[in-house]
Amino acid sequence: MEFKKNDIVTVTIEDISSEGEGIGKVNGYPFFVKDAVIGDKAKIRVTKVKKNYSFGRLEEVLEPSPYRVEPVCVYHKQCGGCQIQAMSYERQLIFKQDKIKNNLIRIGGFKPEFVDRIMEPIVGMENPFRYRNKAQYPIGCDKEGNPVAGFYAGRTHSIIANTNCYLGVEENKEILEVILEHMKNYHVSAYDEATGKGLMRHVLIRKGFTSKEIMVCLVINWYKGEYIPSQEKLLEVLTRIPGMASISVSINTENTNVIMGREVHTIWGKERITDTIHVRDTLHEFVLTGAGITFSISPLSFYQVNPVQTEKLYSLALDYAGLTGEETVWDLYCGIGTISLFLAGKAKQVYGVEIVPQAIEDAKENAANNGITNAQFFVGKAEEVLPEKYEKEGVFADVIVVDPPRKGCDSACLETMLKMQPERIVYVSCDSATLARDLKILCEGGYELKKVRGVDQFSMTVHTEAISLLTKISATGKKKISYREEEIADCGCIYG
Ligand code: SAH
Repeated sequence: MEFKKNDIVTVTIEDISSEGEGIGKVNGYPFFVKDAVIGDKAKIRVTKVKKNYSFGRLEEVLEPSPYRVEPVCVYHKQCGGCQIQAMSYERQLIFKQDKIKNNLIRIGGFKPEFVDRIMEPIVGMENPFRYRNKAQYPIGCDKEGNPVAGFYAGRTHSIIANTNCYLGVEENKEILEVILEHMKNYHVSAYDEATGKGLMRHVLIRKGFTSKEIMVCLVINWYKGEYIPSQEKLLEVLTRIPGMASISVSINTENTNVIMGREVHTIWGKERITDTIHVRDTLHEFVLTGAGITFSISPLSFYQVNPVQTEKLYSLALDYAGLTGEETVWDLYCGIGTISLFLAGKAKQVYGVEIVPQAIEDAKENAANNGITNAQFFVGKAEEVLPEKYEKEGVFADVIVVDPPRKGCDSACLETMLKMQPERIVYVSCDSATLARDLKILCEGGYELKKVRGVDQFSMTVHTEAISLLTKISATGKKKISYREEEIADCGCIYG
């Protein structure tokens, strides 16, 4: 059957793409439909025709899916940040569990029933809204020239006004409204990306979920003796907001889409806020089990955005690491040392490696502030630092923890890990496709995949974290790894 642009087609949505689009088929020919929920019967308009598939826009839901819910945010379609807000949270978790599982099978080459056996149920959120501790709102103007804060519409650079994103904390709205009101009253201009003119570029807001401290950083386009016109007036109102602890400005005069400038100047309160991450009992509903580690966070620091789920993720990492107090642990891609410092409490010695020098400074400071003396940090690429330390100094690891960015681990890093032969490898990942790719390499190199568990850090979006444990196959057990897909192919049957 031939389809062309603007055709109206009726489809039943049977699947979900990794980007969250609903997939419906007509005579086997698939349509990818944004905002459609699995189970919907819908009328769609064809927007783009490709050889083997098409894209469609949802025109009308004829029969809503049992998984369809009323989205809380009226902007969810325009914004694009919450790709699956119209799907019930329970179904979102199934989607994410399946996404990890399918990647392990398709990309990792693990057998389906093996994956079913080792995968633990995904850890969901108790409250899937208002979980983000950090928001960065761009500032612009509406058609009437009034200052607005909001989000970029689709892939454009025009700002749709919305101060109340449901993923962020409630305080964001009041803070933004105070700033916009000040801009209006004192004729403070908003930055215009097209011309490079205008003062106010972005507002960064962070909240320490444990400390309840709030940090506001105003990103501005110039500094001429005064950061913000009538700054005292703005501070007067902003500082009345409960929890306000730090107000700063960052000057970014460059015409880039990098948000923060290089410098930050505190104009009121503290330079940094704090937040505490606690160890939780992974076997008993993640209840608190002890004191936490307190981190100090500056506007420029990297810090996990979902602190509630992060505690669960790190507690699982600690669990999977299986530490007794005797181990030497390497934490690669360590950021500000959050996982490293968590591990340090139960290990003999922890070494962290991270590419961003400022993050390593933070890691050292956080270790000192928490009285942790058995963690040492190195600046550099994991794939350079680890091989060098191994070749030249013969460093050793009982356990290696990795938490790379989306692109996964570099092959030189994986190779060195295999040479170092730690007893256990804990792989924390924000992209299950690259996780699956790397697990395959590690398993081919003599490791056995023991556990994989999803941790939902980003409800309403298609993203998910996953954590996995690999153990070294002992000399006797090394002879055959029996769950590889290559072997399945070799013996010509589905289950090997
Ligand atoms: N484990 C930390 C950070 C994880 S994010 C936490 O939980 O907070 C991934 C980190 O890897 C980032 O801090 C990023 O700067 C760092 N990174 C990216 N590429 C790297 C590389 N090649 N070598 C070392 N670190 C890298």
